[in-house]
Amino acid sequence: MQGKKFTPELLKLRLIEQDSGCWEWDGPTDTDGYGKTWYQGRANARVHRIAYEIWVGAIPPGMMVLHECDNPPCGNPKHLKLGTHLDNMQDAVKKGRKYKGVKNPNVKLTEYQVATIHQMYAAGVSMNKLSLVFNVTRRTIHNVVHGKSWEEFKREADVVEPDHDNSPIHAI
Ligand SMILES: [Zn+2]
Repeated sequence: MQGKKFTPELLKLRLIEQDSGCWEWDGPTDTDGYGKTWYQGRANARVHRIAYEIWVGAIPPGMMVLHECDNPPCGNPKHLKLGTHLDNMQDAVKKGRKYKGVKNPNVKLTEYQVATIHQMYAAGVSMNKLSLVFNVTRRTIHNVVHGKSWEEFKREADVVEPDHDNSPIHAI
C-alpha cells in the first residue's frame, strides 16, 4: 500500500463488518490495538484516523479521533467522533478503562500525563479515580494536583522523561 492513496473502496475492503456493527481492520495493529498501515508515505498511520479523514472530513489540528464503540481496530465512520485529549480521558473514566500507556505497576508518569492529570482534576475528576485511571498511587496524584510543577515533579523517582509514544488511549 506504500505510495498509494487510499480510496474509500480500498479502505473498506480491509475493514470487515462485524455483527456488532464495527468495521474491524483486517491487517496489522499496534500495541494499543489500533489498525495501522502505510498512508501517504507514512508507516504506521492509524486506520481509524484515515477512515475519519476519508469518510467524514479533515481532523482539525490537536483533535483526536475517538471510538464511541471503544473498539480500537474499528474504522466504521459512524463509530468515530472528534474529541480532545481531555474528552478521551473522561471517556476512559466513564468506561472504566485503564490508561494503557502505563504497563508497569511502578508507574512512571510523563510530562504529558502530568498535564492531563491537572486538566482532569480541574474538570472535577476525583483523585481516587485519577489514581485508578493512571494506575498510580493516590499519593502520586496528590503530589501532582497539589501544584508540583513538572520541574519539581521530575526530580522524584517515579517519573520519566516523555518519549515519542505518548499516544493516549484511543487516538492519533
Ligand atoms: Zn466500532
